[in-house]
Amino acid sequence: MSRGYNFSAGPAVLPEDVLRQAQAELLEWSGARASVMEISHRGKDFIALAEQAEQDLRDLLAVPSNYKVLFLQGGATQHFAQIPLNFARRDQAVDYVLTGDWSEKAAKEAKPLAQVRIAASSADSNYDRIPARAEWNLDASAAYVHVTPNETIRGVEFHDIPDVGGAPLIGDVSSTILSRPFDVSKYALLYAGAQKNIGPSGLVVMVVRDDLLERCPKDIPKIFNYAEHAAQGSMLNTPNTWGWYLAGLVFKWVKAQGGVAAMAARNRAKAELLYGYIDRSGYYRNPVEKSARSWMNVPFTLPREELDAAFLKQSEAAGLLALKGHRAVGGMRASIYNAMPLEGVQALVDFMKDFAARNG
Ligand SMILES: *Cc1c(COP(=O)(O)O)cnc(C)c1O
Repeated sequence: MSRGYNFSAGPAVLPEDVLRQAQAELLEWSGARASVMEISHRGKDFIALAEQAEQDLRDLLAVPSNYKVLFLQGGATQHFAQIPLNFARRDQAVDYVLTGDWSEKAAKEAKPLAQVRIAASSADSNYDRIPARAEWNLDASAAYVHVTPNETIRGVEFHDIPDVGGAPLIGDVSSTILSRPFDVSKYALLYAGAQKNIGPSGLVVMVVRDDLLERCPKDIPKIFNYAEHAAQGSMLNTPNTWGWYLAGLVFKWVKAQGGVAAMAARNRAKAELLYGYIDRSGYYRNPVEKSARSWMNVPFTLPREELDAAFLKQSEAAGLLALKGHRAVGGMRASIYNAMPLEGVQALVDFMKDFAARNG
């Protein structure tokens, strides 16, 4: 059996070149005479790797010098709780914009820790759009505003970063980071679970502005305190060294592809191919408002639910993996992250055409 085209939402496809390099140096990494997983995170070899990965990410995202880049653990979900713990007091308002399941979860996790306000929500239309900025009801005194620029489950994406006035803007960019250029300085903090566009699960990359770190309270455990992590170069305790190493390889790979602008051109072409076919097919349907469709996650339904099982079985047999949609939406979902080549999306469209012709 050979590798298929993997449309998993996460953990997701990694670039084949990266996997091959990791395989080639698994036993002995870079003259260490041991695996990168088996050496001290405080040794000079690993420190050099860690610094290079950070620099490559800074280059790719054009991170301004007054931001720290942290390599943390706990998944994005842990940071749903840790962000209010660090940046809001219990009696302080925090604004959340709900555009799907992940922003809903982030708001829920913040509830025990701050006064959560729902500044805007598209829940009433089943998260099929981004509420227009004019509909947002922000509290000018909020400790921060939280958004989810790409909702992985619903396939809803912000194509512009909204202006939120004075409050720091925090973005969960787990499933969109490195897929297209954006202005980091519009955010006070960005965070991403690695397993979509960066590397293996268990690693979280955070980009945070220095002045926000000054808010971290002294009376919380050190291990939850972002300012402590920043002061220790993300080595307050043993970091996820394997994840950090793979993230570094992925950053190099993105650079070799031409950087984030080149990824965006490819991602746009992939998304246009798939949505274009879905819309023309008269058979498949994507429920999201056109202006808010995600470049990374494309949910679609078939004309009758009874066809789902056959579609999944036959697509899997054709080497098109993990197309089952999330239970909240039903149908199918094709996640077409950076590491999915255009050929993979073309193979999916070809299969979809054939399936529709056979099951009209
Ligand atoms: C996958 C995902 C998460 C959850 O990440 P974990 O690492 O499982 O905690 C959160 N937010 C978004 C937008 C995601 O896509």
